[in-house]
Amino acid sequence: MRTPVMPSTGELRPLGTDEVRITGGHWFERQAVNAAATIRHCLHWLEALDWIGNFDRVAAGEAPGRPFQRAGREFSDSEVYKLAEAMAWEIGRTGDPGLEEEFQKLTARIGAAQHEDGYLNTAFGNPGQEPRYSNLEWGHELYCAGHLIQAAVARLRNHGEDEFTRIARRVADHVCDTFGPGGIERICGHAEIEVALAELSRETGESRYLEQARLFIERHGRKTLKENGFYYQDDTAVRDAEVLRGHAVRALYLSSGAIDVAVETGDDELLEAVRAQWERTVARRTHLTGGMGSQYADEAFGRDFALNPDRAYAESCAGIAAIMTAWRLTLATGDSRYGDMIERIAWNVLSGAVAPDGKSFFYANPLHQRTADPEPPADGALPHTRAGGNRAHWFDVSCCPTNLARTFAQFAAYIATTSEHGLQIHQFTPCTIDTVVDGARLALTVETDYPEEGRVTVRVDANEGGTREITFRVPAWAEDVRLIHPDGSVHEVDPAAVSVGRIGEFSPGDELHLEFSVAPRWTFPDPRVDAVRGCAAVERGPVVLCAESLDLPGGDLDELTVDTTVAPVERDGAVHVAARIHDRPDAWPYGPAAADDDGKAAEIPLLPFRLRATRGPAAMRVWLPVN
Ligand SMILES: [Zn+2]
Repeated sequence: MRTPVMPSTGELRPLGTDEVRITGGHWFERQAVNAAATIRHCLHWLEALDWIGNFDRVAAGEAPGRPFQRAGREFSDSEVYKLAEAMAWEIGRTGDPGLEEEFQKLTARIGAAQHEDGYLNTAFGNPGQEPRYSNLEWGHELYCAGHLIQAAVARLRNHGEDEFTRIARRVADHVCDTFGPGGIERICGHAEIEVALAELSRETGESRYLEQARLFIERHGRKTLKENGFYYQDDTAVRDAEVLRGHAVRALYLSSGAIDVAVETGDDELLEAVRAQWERTVARRTHLTGGMGSQYADEAFGRDFALNPDRAYAESCAGIAAIMTAWRLTLATGDSRYGDMIERIAWNVLSGAVAPDGKSFFYANPLHQRTADPEPPADGALPHTRAGGNRAHWFDVSCCPTNLARTFAQFAAYIATTSEHGLQIHQFTPCTIDTVVDGARLALTVETDYPEEGRVTVRVDANEGGTREITFRVPAWAEDVRLIHPDGSVHEVDPAAVSVGRIGEFSPGDELHLEFSVAPRWTFPDPRVDAVRGCAAVERGPVVLCAESLDLPGGDLDELTVDTTVAPVERDGAVHVAARIHDRPDAWPYGPAAADDDGKAAEIPLLPFRLRATRGPAAMRVWLPVN
């Protein structure tokens, strides 16, 4: 089964990339660009910066006149592994022989650096380096091992056992030998090993890996790491926490691993604890774009409702990690509402984090860019802490590009699921689905221009099993929702009460149509989100829009206010809003009443947030001050 997550039990069964093929539209384009540009771009940079070369140097060892010198940060091995995972998914998707050759070359170089007992890391435990596991807080050794294991799971599911997967099995066995009961009973400062071991257990049937994942989950909160427990979720047991906190990517990888362990061990209390943490995090600590991790300091979740748009960190990796968590919750609970958040993040964080050409990336995804920063140079890695403004070709800490590459390559795995008698469509994209429901084949074709248009057509190509229930996730924001059955009957669907549209019997050629409005709409913040009080944003379907200074008379976004009494309109392929452009003098900006300068009326075009900074440097904002 070609899917990154394959629970042995749960409400829904995910369909793999061998069962769902994306055949057109935005995600088809993103996958094509990922294959043609992003994966090779990452490979280029990992070679150019010599992060892959670290494996060669470990293999060659130290010799007189050849001191061991390592390139990159202590966690750079993980980028090589995430790229390997992207390659494994892409090879499975297209069978690209050139990429397969690269994968095998990479395998040989990684394998040559593995120690006799399975240990594999280029930053510790080699000549001239600190000993293994001497810095669990910041060393990232188990984090790197986790990404290697996730890549191996991808390889096993897309190809089968080979040298790469054998390397990873030896690493996994070494981790269990070293960190099991009586061993080093501590955790890694960056969660990731948990989700990886749980999935390797699912794939191999080896219960030892699941047990080790469970141990790591249970050890969080026992304060086995020095200081900073909050930052790496070692302050409170996973099952006792009330909300996601600390470093956002760490928190969400940990949540994903905890759900996997909970599902596989029948630990309903743990599952419910993580689900509740997610709900509270969505309700209090998440930006309109779905971006998580609201503060630059520590790349972390901020306090409840502290959601500053211009200091939103909303790291691309946190978006990916949030999708990992939300997808696991979808599968475990069967609640389609998690798909709303997956869609929001996918369209606004993930898709915008990569340039249309696939060769530059956002690390942070703030909702407000105050200045039109110059474009970064093409030949140097940018500090990840200076990560707003424009996409960069690479970063000193470059977790996001390879993470995005693996996620796009596996994206078809997040589209649909099956249950005992039915099939559920969670994300709308042109695709073909060919699977087995209740022992009999069901094949469908999905056609749509979504989200340009709010119409999704599902055609039944084969149904060998009689009565089937096909279910759509209806987005919570959708209005005027109608489901048109094959007999032409029209059924109103209330997304507030019923998140799905259902229908039963099918024959080949039957068509179902789901229709709803994707007209642009004003969105207002809860007043508790005080950083954007007095502002409004525009969304169109799942797409969050923004204003860029390039489209403003005078080019000064600070002088823009909008009139929300006028509905946004679509014209010439863009959404326009009624606005006023002010020209306010420099003066003390506070007083007893609102300024009476009402400026000049104007109509301002908006663009999808994901397309910001694609026409050159610009100031940008999602939340627009209301006139
Ligand atoms: Zn990242």
